[in-house]
Formats: sequence, C-alpha cells, structure tokens
Amino acid sequence: MDQALVFRQLFDADSSTYTYLLADPVTQAAVLIDPVFEQHGRDRALIEELGLTLLVTLDTHCHADHVTGAWLMQQAVGSKIAISGRYGDMVKGADYLLDHGDTVTFGRRTLEVRATPGHTDGCITYVLDDHSMAFTGDCLLIRGAGRCDFQQGDAKRMYASITEQIFSLPADCTIWPAHDYSGRTSSTVAEEKAHNPRIGGQADETDFVGYMENLGLPHPKKIDIALPANCVCGQPEDGKMPTVADWGPVRLTYGGVKEIDPQWVAENLSSVHVLDVRGPDEFNAELGHIREAQLVPLSQLEDRMAEISAQQPVVAVCKSGRRSALATAMLKKHGHPDAASLRGGMLGWNDAHLPVARD
Ligand code: FE
Repeated sequence: MDQALVFRQLFDADSSTYTYLLADPVTQAAVLIDPVFEQHGRDRALIEELGLTLLVTLDTHCHADHVTGAWLMQQAVGSKIAISGRYGDMVKGADYLLDHGDTVTFGRRTLEVRATPGHTDGCITYVLDDHSMAFTGDCLLIRGAGRCDFQQGDAKRMYASITEQIFSLPADCTIWPAHDYSGRTSSTVAEEKAHNPRIGGQADETDFVGYMENLGLPHPKKIDIALPANCVCGQPEDGKMPTVADWGPVRLTYGGVKEIDPQWVAENLSSVHVLDVRGPDEFNAELGHIREAQLVPLSQLEDRMAEISAQQPVVAVCKSGRRSALATAMLKKHGHPDAASLRGGMLGWNDAHLPVARD
C-alpha cells in the first residue's frame, strides 16, 4: 500500500484548524476531513488541480470554534456531507449519519469510524484502513486533549475514548488532530502515550479528569456564530455561495491567483477591459490577440499603470496565464479594484477556438 495515498494537511490560521485531504491516486476518489468555511476556495482549487473527485466531507464533530465548509463543498462539487448521528436533531442537512464501526470508502481505501466522545457526544476519530493514521478531531491533540467543559463535554468519557479507541492503535500510528496552537503538525500513539501531559505516562482516570475539570478556559470566542451554523452543516443564512468577485465567475487557484474562464470573457467582452501584457511581437504572432485588448508589456506595466482604466474589471492576458497572473498582482498593489487573469492565456483562448485578431 505504499504510495497508495494522496495526503495533504491544510491549515486555517484564524482558527488553528487542520483540514485533511486524502485520496486514492488510482481512482482519484477523495475525502476531506474538517473543511473550514473560509478556506473553501483554497480546498476546492487544490482538489481540482490534483484531478481528484471529492466524494464526501467528514467532520470529526460539530465544531464551536469555526464554521464547517461541508455545505459549500456539497454545493460546489456535489460531495456528500457526513457527521456523527449522535447529535440527533441538533444537526440538520447531513447526507450520512455515521456511528461507531461504520466505514467510509474512497476508491481502494477506507476510513474506519471510531466513536470517541468526551469533547462532544458526536466526536469521531477516523482511522485509516492499515492503522497508519488516525484523525482524532478534538479528542486527542498533540500533547493535549480537547476541552470537556461545554457542549456535552465529559472528561471521564474522553479518558475512555483515548485509552480504548486511540491508544489501542499501533505505536507508530500517526496522530493528526483537528487543531494545534503551537505549530506542531502530527504525533504518534507511542509519543502521546509517553509524553502527553494530560493522559500520558502514569496518568490514570483520576489524574486526567482532575486536570481537565480545572483548565478554566475562556468561552470559545466564535461559538455563538459557529455552533448554529454547524448545526446546518455550514449553510449560510441566506443560502448563497460566497463569490470571489461580483462582476464575473472569478476563481481563486490554490496558488492564490484570481482566474477567469476564457469562454465567459469572450461572451462578456463589452463589460471588461482586456489588458494584454505580452511583447508587441507576440501580440501579432500566430496566437494573435483579443481584438479589444490594450497592449502594455509586463515590463512596462508599473510605469504605465495610469493608462489602465479603472472603469471596468481588468482581464489580464498573456501566452499561458503566468505573466498575466503577475499583472493582476501588480494591479492589485496599485489599488485596481477588480482584476483577474485569463485562464490558460492565448494558448487556451486559441484551443477554445475563440476569435483572434492580427494587425
Ligand atoms: Fe471542537
């Protein structure tokens, strides 16, 4: 099974949440654990760029510190939403209600569902088929454990969850938690058994419960927003998908570039300003140019910024979409409100058989 898993750990700095992408490289079937609402564009772009098919988003629990991106993914790519069924009527809108012993299949791989309550009633640890990885949510953290003092928290139950369901995994099983606040990315069962300051070493249930019940943590700052939103799987109150730009179907790449589809640009040329940043020789060479385009070579753009109209959104164009991406960043730096790069550049434009001019 080596090389048989695509795996990415993603981070949301605002909530210190880890999101995990797992996929079978042969079938391209993917799952996404604990997506974050605000990172939807990033996650979606990565899934597309890797050529994966997202089957399902898996929340480890109903979160109180950030809003899940599950609903957004369902709307965008048709993925299913899965969460524990143990929340009962509290959570609405999920496609699959999971329970202990269930399996989630993606291509040739599976995740095993282990109920690990204690932080909340519906906390799940997802364990990879070969027991090499465990996604522990807010149950076992790196040198820590999720708080047990709100929602349906119960330190005794968490002690049982960790010792029976997680510490029973192989010593070298990697622990991938839902959060870390100190830059630590992963651990192992052996490491946490030995060194976890709350439950490691010689700690017994009395030690653990005594520790957890006296943490004195502040109320989670986003709970009043996050909890109601997560009870509907992250569907916004207005039921609308957030957009990158209000003027057209602009998409953000995983690299952070705003891109727009050539077909849309061809159909909406009157509502955008096309800025070609290639050299004059390329402008009239075999790929041609978009008839309405203004030619300002990238090397001159900084000096000629005043010539770029701010009346309409700018679509920057080059040969392949690389120099135009830099042009959009330069426009942004100079305060231009709306700019996007033509996806695929003139190569893509020609491939789509869209009209070109040559002077
Ligand atoms: Fe949590």
